[in-house]
Amino acid sequence: MPAYLQSKYDITFHFNRAVNRIEYPKVYSGKNIYEADQIFICNGAEFETLYPEVFAESGITKCKLQMLRTVPQPGGWNTGPALSAGLTLTHYGAFQNLTSLAALNERYNRDMPEYVKWGIHVMISQNQLTEVTIGDSHEYGLVFDPFDREYINRLILDYLKTFVTLKDFSIGQTWNGIYPKLKGKTEFVSRPESGVTIINGLSGAGMTLSFGLAEEVVGQL
Ligand SMILES: Cc1cc2nc3c(=O)[nH]c(=O)nc-3n(C[C@H](O)[C@H](O)[C@H](O)COP(=O)(O)OP(=O)(O)OC[C@H]3O[C@@H](n4cnc5c(N)ncnc54)[C@H](O)[C@@H]3O)c2cc1C
Repeated sequence: MPAYLQSKYDITFHFNRAVNRIEYPKVYSGKNIYEADQIFICNGAEFETLYPEVFAESGITKCKLQMLRTVPQPGGWNTGPALSAGLTLTHYGAFQNLTSLAALNERYNRDMPEYVKWGIHVMISQNQLTEVTIGDSHEYGLVFDPFDREYINRLILDYLKTFVTLKDFSIGQTWNGIYPKLKGKTEFVSRPESGVTIINGLSGAGMTLSFGLAEEVVGQL
């Protein structure tokens, strides 16, 4: 992606430069100082480090997700499209207007309280190595236990087995990711000083929404 952006739009990237202060039009990274007409801060889950007061008042918190990945499927076996099941209907805002959602939530609260407690819904998709990526759980807070819970991974796999049969369920890797979360909103955009724009809080939809949001925010300047 950086190579593409560099060749197509002549963008210069400066990697491994932690920005520790901004005073428009200056951006400080230790002893390195950059200047810009427009500064966009998209610092993801490390949002406390720049303009901490703005973030403290934003209502933003964090979400820790546990995910798993199987070993490659035997013989290059293909799962086909990405798959999800009923729990996913209770997770995404896109389904909130379904008339049957209240009854579904009631059923999950009654029959699968541990799934509700750990914010689990289950989706899979396969990569080019035929490994199957499986997720995920959702825990909210500003500080998390660094260890993953085997119990959560087991809940995820147990539910997966109710709607998918893989050739090989052996898990090759597990991991957790953390993203900033702004409950009830799709993004956080703030202008703490003239020429500086903070864009954050895309939560679990940033890979999907970022390109459209970037176009919208830049278009408003
Ligand atoms: C487990 C998991 C599953 C997800 N699944 C989905 C999904 O299915 N669909 C979807 O649409 N989205 C998904 N997301 C969400 C998506 O990944 C995020 O919303 C998106 O990455 C946010 O993009 P961003 O550019 O705002 O922040 P990030 O991608 O977090 O990038 C922020 C960057 O800023 C850098 N940075 C921070 N502070 C500084 C500093 N002071 N100086 C310099 N650099 C700094 C960081 O190192 C990082 O590289 C998922 C996220 C996780 C963790």
